[in-house]
Amino acid sequence: MSVTHIEHIGIAVKSLNDAIPYYENLLGVKCYSIEEVKDQKVKTAFFKVGQTKIELLETTDPEGTIGKFIEKKGEGIHHIAFAVKGINEELQRMQENGIVLIDKTPRSGAEGLEIAFLHPKSTFGVLTEFCEDRNQK
Ligand code: ZN
Repeated sequence: MSVTHIEHIGIAVKSLNDAIPYYENLLGVKCYSIEEVKDQKVKTAFFKVGQTKIELLETTDPEGTIGKFIEKKGEGIHHIAFAVKGINEELQRMQENGIVLIDKTPRSGAEGLEIAFLHPKSTFGVLTEFCEDRNQK
């Protein structure tokens, strides 16, 4: 079993400033990290819920993926991320099973994680992310 747990759920929001107080109130914890991922044209805010995190995503560019997502679908759940052991092997295994990969090799995401996305057309409409913390191998 190489998927260990749900690492985080990604939620697209128009404004971190507006959404953070709601989640702090809902979860009863403070946002512990705000980080810009230039590569993905997003600003992220993280909350811990047990072993899982909530990742709020605000676009830094209307043409970025989150910008386009909100324009098309509005705010809401954007992706689900599974923590995996051996991300390269897992991507290869998915590809061998006919799953379309957005990222054939992992790239750097927020929180120093190696991340890669599977295409929603292969995953019953759910944008799926694999992530691996290389420091926790
Ligand atoms: Zn994510």
